[in-house]
Amino acid sequence: MNLRLHNSMTQTVEPFVPQDPHRITMYVCGPTVYDTPHLGNARPAVVFDVLFRLLQHHYPQVVYARNFTDVDDKIMERARADGDRISDLTERTIQDYHEVTEALGVLRPTHEPRATGAIDRMLDMISRLIDRGHAYEAEGHVLFHVPSYPAHGLLSRHLQEDLEAGARVDPAAYKRHPSDFVMWKPSTVDQPGWDGPYGRGRPGWHIECSAMIEAVLGYTIDIHGGGADLRFPHHDCEISQSQCAHDGDPLARYWIHNGMLLIDGEKMAKSAGNFTTVRDVLNQGVPGAVIRLALLMAHYRSPLDWTQQLLREAATTLQGWHRALDDIAANQVTKGHHAPVLEALASDLNTPLAIAEMHWLARDLMTGNPKDRVAIAAAMREAGSILGFDLYNNDQFLRGHVDEEVRALIVQRTDARKEGNFAESDRIRDALRAKGVVLEDTPNGTTWYKDLK
Ligand SMILES: [Zn+2]
Repeated sequence: MNLRLHNSMTQTVEPFVPQDPHRITMYVCGPTVYDTPHLGNARPAVVFDVLFRLLQHHYPQVVYARNFTDVDDKIMERARADGDRISDLTERTIQDYHEVTEALGVLRPTHEPRATGAIDRMLDMISRLIDRGHAYEAEGHVLFHVPSYPAHGLLSRHLQEDLEAGARVDPAAYKRHPSDFVMWKPSTVDQPGWDGPYGRGRPGWHIECSAMIEAVLGYTIDIHGGGADLRFPHHDCEISQSQCAHDGDPLARYWIHNGMLLIDGEKMAKSAGNFTTVRDVLNQGVPGAVIRLALLMAHYRSPLDWTQQLLREAATTLQGWHRALDDIAANQVTKGHHAPVLEALASDLNTPLAIAEMHWLARDLMTGNPKDRVAIAAAMREAGSILGFDLYNNDQFLRGHVDEEVRALIVQRTDARKEGNFAESDRIRDALRAKGVVLEDTPNGTTWYKDLK
């Protein structure tokens, strides 16, 4: 595979050359666990899942880590507001995240480190940064001293002057420089805290990722991913901490960032209050696979406008794939035909093109030479699994979870047709239509499926 990826560090699409082709390493910044994920949170989970699957298809070992930030001021605030224990809130939210992402067909990463499980590593890294002159203690805090690392900000291209202007608003008195950022801060008795050489305290967000990457994957990783909104300041800060603690070794060879999910032209965010949770959409009866396809219909670097129209298009598309495959047994393995889908994905994860290629395969399946159908079906199913869709269980997708009453009506209609009672057969067909079931009479008999619209 000729994989090419857009590297945010160089702002160009580059051939992907791993450090070690026998073992690929990837880290993606995961959720802060205080609430169920909204659609904007689901986008990176799905985008990097496609990349994970694509890498796994081509390399013998892919080690993928995605963290849980389970110590954070937002978590403390939510627990306090709800009268909840912090550990109960984070456990529950992590379980919910697993359920929701699983519904979207997202594979579990190889490692899911939790920030609270890496405190020792954070303290160790902080002490190395102090020893090397990149950090200092002040009033129970430990801060990274930005002027100590002139390369700071290369990823987001924020100039030093911008940083100063931004930080000048109300710099804490203990900061040596307005853009210095916190790696460790003091905790009061009622706040979560760990005893350490700098007094009882808790980590800042940026050091969490630097320490978890070092602990789980090592000094230099192949791919670091996350939402485009994390480039500044989070990823700039991760880079400065890690590279200064590692005598200049680069933190990541490729920086991959997904674009934002928009609703009415605005970024979907908890803080903006314009969010729809994934659970809301699942509870409306939309299959997780349809939500997944909708999230992949724009290129990952573009903004994605979330609309009902997008969801309807995804439902129609996915239904079309399943219907094309419906009467072909899934027991053949052949390769070759799915190459265009893989090429589209290898071209900086061009999912809109990959989806179009799936369309062509589905069309070939409906109209093509019958002797090619088995091979095309196998190709579609294999390509589908790299995109994260189970195209093997067509019956389940098209007709799963349909109640007994509907099934009984379908039998009654078949009987009415056999008896030549077309008035009754039409009446039942309309009744089924009203229940969201579509019947199709073909020369080989009647097939039916759920209407997702
Ligand atoms: Zn991070």
